Amino acid sequence: MTPIRNLTGNLEKKYLELNQDVRQLHDSLKGRMSDYIIVDPTLNEFYGPSVLFDMNKQIVVSESYLNYIWSSLFFIFVFHEEASLELLKNPSASFIDMNSTSLRKDALKLFIYSKDIIKQRSYIPWPKNTISPLFKGTPSNDTEDFALKVNGLYSTGMATLFFHELGHIYLDHSEEAKLQKELKEKLEKELRKNPDFKLAPEEVAPIIAAETEADNFAFDLLFRINDNDDIQLNNAIAVLSVHLAMLLSTSSLKGLKQIFHPNLHERVLRIIQRIDSLNIKETGYFSHLAIHILVFVLSNAGIKLDSYDAGSDPYGYLLNLMDKIDDLI
Ligand SMILES: [Zn+2]
Repeated sequence: MTPIRNLTGNLEKKYLELNQDVRQLHDSLKGRMSDYIIVDPTLNEFYGPSVLFDMNKQIVVSESYLNYIWSSLFFIFVFHEEASLELLKNPSASFIDMNSTSLRKDALKLFIYSKDIIKQRSYIPWPKNTISPLFKGTPSNDTEDFALKVNGLYSTGMATLFFHELGHIYLDHSEEAKLQKELKEKLEKELRKNPDFKLAPEEVAPIIAAETEADNFAFDLLFRINDNDDIQLNNAIAVLSVHLAMLLSTSSLKGLKQIFHPNLHERVLRIIQRIDSLNIKETGYFSHLAIHILVFVLSNAGIKLDSYDAGSDPYGYLLNLMDKIDDLI
């Protein structure tokens, strides 16, 4: 069994228990969830959760996508925590060495694995002797602690992505799905003739609007009627981190710009603003987390900042970073 398959049961459980309305909503729309959310191991492609409107509204996701999300989340949290520790020691640090401890090395290995999945866009077996959802190949207790935390965030984070898909079904975005398919074909055809071809903003506007609606639907489900601070905090971390994982999937800065979705960094900012409107203490944590990953993305693109210490105004620092990215893409 592949390591991620072990968590598939948790995905369904999380999806149904995050909000008490989900089961009812789901049943009224489609029937039992396990009949409709399909983790398809034979689907060898990299395939994020999508609704198949012409296939009985099934939501399908491929295993390689799940492997991607888990390995990215592991990297994100190790990187974030280690960067925070490093900044405590040296506030002007401009970067951290990811080869200095076994925990960091493991995180780096998983980052490279996640990048390989993106490059090949297919299923790649879990790297040997590296931490996994099954805790195999654990080099230290530290690593195991992170893996345990990531298992929880992964289940909640994926559930929110399924909520987004459920939103497409509930709001009936079948027309937009059809339009997107047509525009994709048009884009591919035109790009063969002219590599600089771009679709007009007004052509894609209905699709972007539908995506934003589905995002809002998912956030509403996730954060509605949830008066337990710890659960809400945990859900907020999960939804942000799974979007940071998507942000890491781009191979260049320009990739942050999306054709059929809101831009990846803007989506992250929107989530942080949404979290800010909740009754969660210490919302600065979310800005810090996003900043560390954005600085990492910038650094990979060859753009080094003097320091990534956001100081006492992380949200302000994040907004500046967003502007900087907008200028660059
Ligand atoms: Zn969508």
